Amino acid sequence: MRSLTLAEARERAALIAVTSYAVELDLDQGDRVFGSVSSITFTCSSPGADSWVDVKARSVHEVTLNGRRLDPGDIRDGRLTLRGLAADNRLVVRATMAYSHDGQGLHRATDPADRRDYVYGHLFLDAAPTVFACFDQPDLKAPHDIGVRAPQDWVVLGNGAARQVAPGQWRLATTKPLATYFVTVCAGPYVSVRDEHDGIPLGIHARASLREPLERHSGELFTVTRQCFDYFHDLFGIRYPFGEYHQVFVPEFNAGAMENPGCVTLRDQYLFRGAATRDELLGRANTVSHEMSHMWFGDLVTMKWWDDLWLNESFAEYMSHRCLVDATEYTDAWVDSSIVRKVWGYGAERSPSTHPVAGVEALDAQSALQNFDGISYAKGAAVLRQLISFVGDDAFLAGVRAYLTDKSYANGMLADFLGAIERASGRDLGPWSDAWLLSAGRDTISVDVAVHGGTVEAARLLRVRPTTHLADRPHALDVAAWTDGAEVSRLAVTATGDLTPLPDLAGKAVPAVLVPNSADLTWARVRLDRSTLDALPTQLARVPDAQARAVVWSALIDGVHVAEVSPVTFLDVFEATWTSESNASILARMALYAEHRIVPHFVPRAAQPAAAGRLARSARQLLDRADEGTSRSLAAARLLAGTSDDEALLRSWADGSGLPHGLEDDGDFRWIVVRNLAARGLIDAAAVDSYRAKDDTLQGGLNALMCRAALPRPDVKAWAWDQLTGRHGRSNYEMIHLARGLWMSPDDALVADYVERFFTDVPAMSAWVGEDALSRVVLAAFPKVFTSQTDALSSRALRRRDLTPAVRRSLVDADAELREALASRAAFASDFRASA
Ligand SMILES: [Zn+2]
Repeated sequence: MRSLTLAEARERAALIAVTSYAVELDLDQGDRVFGSVSSITFTCSSPGADSWVDVKARSVHEVTLNGRRLDPGDIRDGRLTLRGLAADNRLVVRATMAYSHDGQGLHRATDPADRRDYVYGHLFLDAAPTVFACFDQPDLKAPHDIGVRAPQDWVVLGNGAARQVAPGQWRLATTKPLATYFVTVCAGPYVSVRDEHDGIPLGIHARASLREPLERHSGELFTVTRQCFDYFHDLFGIRYPFGEYHQVFVPEFNAGAMENPGCVTLRDQYLFRGAATRDELLGRANTVSHEMSHMWFGDLVTMKWWDDLWLNESFAEYMSHRCLVDATEYTDAWVDSSIVRKVWGYGAERSPSTHPVAGVEALDAQSALQNFDGISYAKGAAVLRQLISFVGDDAFLAGVRAYLTDKSYANGMLADFLGAIERASGRDLGPWSDAWLLSAGRDTISVDVAVHGGTVEAARLLRVRPTTHLADRPHALDVAAWTDGAEVSRLAVTATGDLTPLPDLAGKAVPAVLVPNSADLTWARVRLDRSTLDALPTQLARVPDAQARAVVWSALIDGVHVAEVSPVTFLDVFEATWTSESNASILARMALYAEHRIVPHFVPRAAQPAAAGRLARSARQLLDRADEGTSRSLAAARLLAGTSDDEALLRSWADGSGLPHGLEDDGDFRWIVVRNLAARGLIDAAAVDSYRAKDDTLQGGLNALMCRAALPRPDVKAWAWDQLTGRHGRSNYEMIHLARGLWMSPDDALVADYVERFFTDVPAMSAWVGEDALSRVVLAAFPKVFTSQTDALSSRALRRRDLTPAVRRSLVDADAELREALASRAAFASDFRASA
């Protein structure tokens, strides 16, 4: 399907202004299709001109323009030409549309727990015309008036307050002007908890089978929601403009959540069924805050075109963390950002697909999806923190308020935003913006220390700019040092050149641990000096500053990825310090990273069992030591369940005996155990089915699929491959779970057949899988056989010209990770021979 280009969008916006949409959806036509009638009133600035409307229907029954019948057969590539427009127009399109199963458009899922169906609209990017005929571009905003017919036992929610006017007949209140990609309808036998805050009706909603966790988590969710509303009202000086505020937890959601005005959709894994660690609650609170900040930045003021998507996301990423720190109990949100979000962003920056934060051409809507990554979110937020230290917080906020006020219910661009900050601060942001927003890449920073007899003679901060992206980035940052847990120096500096003296350190005893960017204010690769690296196993746990510890871990990860730090060093630091870690985000994230990235990617196959054994040993120690039911205990139990080779322990946990306190009836925990048993071939398909029967839920079904695909048998791998890549109507989530399970294998030989097949079979899935979903499937299904043969096949695939943009982008990123793994394995092979 053709994607809207920037040139086309400009041309259409010059011609057309939409006055209103009225949409009638009939969701009571079975589980495959729904009825859609769109009535659009719009003006044309040049009467007599032609334009087009976007409609991507199963079948279009009738189209009338100003009372004149148009031929639905004239629809090409999802567009219907409208000839000879009048100054004022009314277009009516009656169509039958198809439900989706890939999380894009109007997604329909069946809950295996009770066989009931749920529908939600995710119209992001360019899916709106698969639900109703529209002028689908972000700068043609209009009020929407929506009616829905649904089965009588369903609840309907949407952007406007929903009212049942007759059994099965619902009307949503007319919205404020919205971009088409923000329109949503959620319908099904959803269950709800409602409340109110500061005059704003609040609702949270989920599938009926999730009633218990919905109610259990509702107090925390409403608390965070209230805190965020108060904070943003105060910060932006503009009241929340969209009426009611609903948060709907929906199944099989591709992203974390979506900021539909008045009706945010969130992935329903956020309603943790079992025990949740503090970092998981923090992550969810961050998503709640992120989506709410979009109500102002994104929804009230929308980017004019997709090339300013970063402005939405960088801003929301920054604001959500700021709000958590200032207004909620999650005052360590920036630590979480360092270890979760920035680690993700630095990975994006290492890939050849990296790009400047802003100013990246998005020639069409689909290619904009490529920039929806760790650069737009994590780097963008870090850059905004640099902007604030450059202009000052007061000027920044004054500029933000002016921008939001000036562009309310309209659209803005980078130049508008920067102009507002420049006017508020009186600073010229040209050079700053060139360096930080319009240039890709990151500097490497380190501290160079001249030592004499155990004393620092001189110290300086080194900034090395990447040769491919030679921008002159000024860095506002901290350098701090510790010895035996005592802070011996902390210096705030603005590094405007390649060498910045650090006079504070001179004359002091050489510190044990020196951390550049210790407060994690800037965006750079931190290279730790040799003596700090050597000291980490004994010193890191004694550094009392969690923020600095997160920076150290992030630097270690980066070092492993660029083959400067041995994975053995990483594992040494892990084994020596992880059990003492007190920050829940660092604890959980480093366990996941060690188990799922460091060991499988960077440790040679033959050494992986021993490396996993080291992780299991740490996990056992912490589980024995941690207070029961705490985040520490949970993180330890999960790591042990995933890495242990103790068959007796795993079997007893899988069958519900001897479980750590708090995990007695935790279906998600049991699946970690079952996955480990399955991947080791210690259970068979019948046993997986028996665990599935104990957890007959959406989440249980997905986990069972993954565990089944993980069984180390050739016939199972063949089945999994066929289920993944064949047209079996598998949902986005099912495909990803199949892919994950398939590559779990005790050796490369068992899955070798699928390495070459990946490069033909998976790109071909673009014929039936949406781009957003497929980009995630490609990453999960990319061969986990780290050899030069895979590398050669990958390079060859990247030379193909027939890949869709999302497939190509994910291949580039997965290929970059493969090369990192191969480079590290080549550089540090002897470390493993030595330890074997
Ligand atoms: Zn966002």
